[in-house]
Amino acid sequence: MIGAFGRTIEIDLFGSKAKICSFDCPYCDLGATQTRLNKLKEQGAVPSSQEILAQAQQRFRDIHEKGPGVDSVIISGNGEPTIHPEFPEIVSGLISLRDIWLAGKPIVLFTNGANLDQRRVNEAVNRLDQRVVKLDAGNERIFKTMAAPLSRVTLQKVISGVRLLKDVTIQAMFVQGAVDNTSSADLEDWIEVVGLLKPHSVQITTITRPTHIAGLKSCDEDTLHTIATKLERRTSLKASVLI
Ligand code: SF4
Repeated sequence: MIGAFGRTIEIDLFGSKAKICSFDCPYCDLGATQTRLNKLKEQGAVPSSQEILAQAQQRFRDIHEKGPGVDSVIISGNGEPTIHPEFPEIVSGLISLRDIWLAGKPIVLFTNGANLDQRRVNEAVNRLDQRVVKLDAGNERIFKTMAAPLSRVTLQKVISGVRLLKDVTIQAMFVQGAVDNTSSADLEDWIEVVGLLKPHSVQITTITRPTHIAGLKSCDEDTLHTIATKLERRTSLKASVLI
């Protein structure tokens, strides 16, 4: 895939077996979150760190030997990577493999931020080159609607975890229709939270694919640029609009 991080190779910690996430965002293009990690564990279907790293080694080596080259390695995929029970071991292994086969290429994590306040997760995440955290709510009401957490995760918990990161990119989804996080008051709250976190970059986007919840609408480009302008006026942070 090619996007904000150039040509990338994606490392998926759950494979095609199921989407595993602590959130059930209405706009998720992976569909509704239906499988719990515990169920997958009971079935013995969680890929082990050894399996994930063996596959990564093969793919990294192929790219090194045959190309085409990549600009970055993305940890993302079928759900929330930090939920994987061996997440820290996988991060260590990927860094070692990258140093051998794809030296100099940054490893970027996409996360929903729910586990960042756990020390073992936070330490691992801080060893990576870049951290992109989804944050599209500035108050608990919108957080519940936009993230629909499946456990006791609050916006405050996510903020506490993000504040432990050495640097962060915030990625925010804006939607309208059946769920709407673009009212003036909700945007003001979001801008305040983003300003507090002082990210080194901000990306804002909207839905571009069908969603599993009916009645969601994407924002038009003007709305996204207006949000970016409001953010910059209040915080001096520039946001890239990705659509
Ligand atoms: S956090 Fe990401 S993977 Fe999880 S439900 Fe939301 S959009 Fe989907």
